[in-house]
Amino acid sequence: MITGKNYIGNQLSAAGNTTYTTYNPKLNIENEHTFFEASEEEIEKAVCLASEAFKTFKKISGAKKAAFLNTIADEILALDHLLIQTYISETGLPEGRAKGERGRTIGQLRTFADLVAKGSWVEATIDTADLDRTPIPKQDIRKMLVPLGPVVVFGASNFPLAYATAGGDTAAAFAAGCPVIIKSHPMHAGTGELVASAINKAAQKTGMPNGVFSNLNSAGIEVGVQLVKHPKIKAVGFTGSIRGGRALFDLASQRPEPIPVFAEMGSINPVILLPEAAKNKGETIAKTYAASITLGSGQFCTNPGLIIGIKGEALDHFISVLSNEIVKIEPSCMLHPNIIGNYERNKTNALQQSGVNITAEYDGDVPVNHARQTITKVEGKTFFKNTNLHQEVFGPFSMVVQCENVREMESIVSNLEGQLTGTVIAENEEVSEYNAVIEAIQNRVGRIIFNGVPTGVEVCPAMQHGGPYPASTDSRFTAVGIHAIKRWVRPFSYQSWPDNLLPEELRNENPLGISRLVNGVQTKEPI
Ligand code: NAP
Repeated sequence: MITGKNYIGNQLSAAGNTTYTTYNPKLNIENEHTFFEASEEEIEKAVCLASEAFKTFKKISGAKKAAFLNTIADEILALDHLLIQTYISETGLPEGRAKGERGRTIGQLRTFADLVAKGSWVEATIDTADLDRTPIPKQDIRKMLVPLGPVVVFGASNFPLAYATAGGDTAAAFAAGCPVIIKSHPMHAGTGELVASAINKAAQKTGMPNGVFSNLNSAGIEVGVQLVKHPKIKAVGFTGSIRGGRALFDLASQRPEPIPVFAEMGSINPVILLPEAAKNKGETIAKTYAASITLGSGQFCTNPGLIIGIKGEALDHFISVLSNEIVKIEPSCMLHPNIIGNYERNKTNALQQSGVNITAEYDGDVPVNHARQTITKVEGKTFFKNTNLHQEVFGPFSMVVQCENVREMESIVSNLEGQLTGTVIAENEEVSEYNAVIEAIQNRVGRIIFNGVPTGVEVCPAMQHGGPYPASTDSRFTAVGIHAIKRWVRPFSYQSWPDNLLPEELRNENPLGISRLVNGVQTKEPI
């Protein structure tokens, strides 16, 4: 049941006076529930509870954390139709997408459960003593990863499950041993509350300390700002716009004790279309890209917003097929009137720049809140000079850049801001000729794709979802896959510490049977 209240630990609470509702963009009406924004006192209480909970949660065994994570997954599934219907009513997204995203969320939770149950993720490293060493005896030193403390997680509008309440950041933080406070996204507060109830049930069923999780509602930035400034908060996870992520990053670095902000932000995901590939398979690629650009109404951080090719017949033909194909696709509903408002504003801004031409725009009638997909083109030298054209237009929009030659292509790619992904569409034989361009794109992105599309992020250990700024605030980390756990930990060494007082991961007999680096050798053997 949705109450509209905040979860302060496992207690529902509505002490504040500010209220808001969510919106059904398909029906173009407000949804029925009223949500209460968290008050300053409620925020303070949630943070204090999280800080207390950390004292025990950080020491909980991998097996118990795994049970907690798996039970969250079970409780989310138990929400069944209510969760799916609420998701649909708050996003306008279809049922298939809702169920697919739920599957991904459950999968992420279970993957982290498996990781912590096995235990080797702590990177235990042991250098035993050599007290006979001269001139100075060598001490026994043992290192492992330990949790940072209570963290705050901000979800994005476009992933109400997988990048939200029990999404990748939360699953990774729980796995690491960090209590989580969610700053609920106002566009899907009902979905968020339901998932929060699942987390709290799981916490109670598996004996987790009260305060290991809180869910705070807010319709503006104040709640998030108070959370990020709070001295008891030790790190922040954010998924959303560059503006929002950067504001929180600046706030966190201005604190007396600066803390890390892992912000995954917007990206235009450049696609390099090489001439032989454009000539030989331009039509097929154009059809594939028409589908990728409009997938989910273009509301993906990996949407291909920029296609860079070399002028000529093949590129002209590619643009013409892409333009014909894209207008055949039925426009779909965007997440919220504000999102479509931003789409229209950012698109208009791009179209008003000198030298930008529309090659296709859906011009039929569309229902309310449905976005008209648009393809534009621009000359390489115009794009190079005008950085307004390098900004994300969040929605079904893409720009084709026509370069004079390979040198111009390389300069354009080298001059791009950091991106989540880059794609190379090529014939194998032409790759060596464009090596400099490919090297340049590798410097700007976190993941490079060969002859594919950037949309559709596989959740697996080898996935890197994060790139140079402004795609992410710290390109050394990923938002997707098991390595996301490293955001929420710090390395910690014990020197000359008695064996029986060490954590189990570092004891001589290796009671957990984990893989450790002992005197330079990776092993599961006891010492
Ligand atoms: P958003 O407007 O930045 O909002 C995200 C969250 O941050 C909201 O809860 C928002 O709260 C909060 N927020 C924004 N500005 C803030 C500020 N100055 N201070 C405190 N809190 C602030 O983003 P969105 O529109 O929901 O999401 C769409 C964007 O996310 C797109 O740019 C997309 O590319 C990006 N995205 C990136 C990834 C990735 O993995 N890199 C994944 C998905 C989406 P309020 O709404 O209450 O202000």
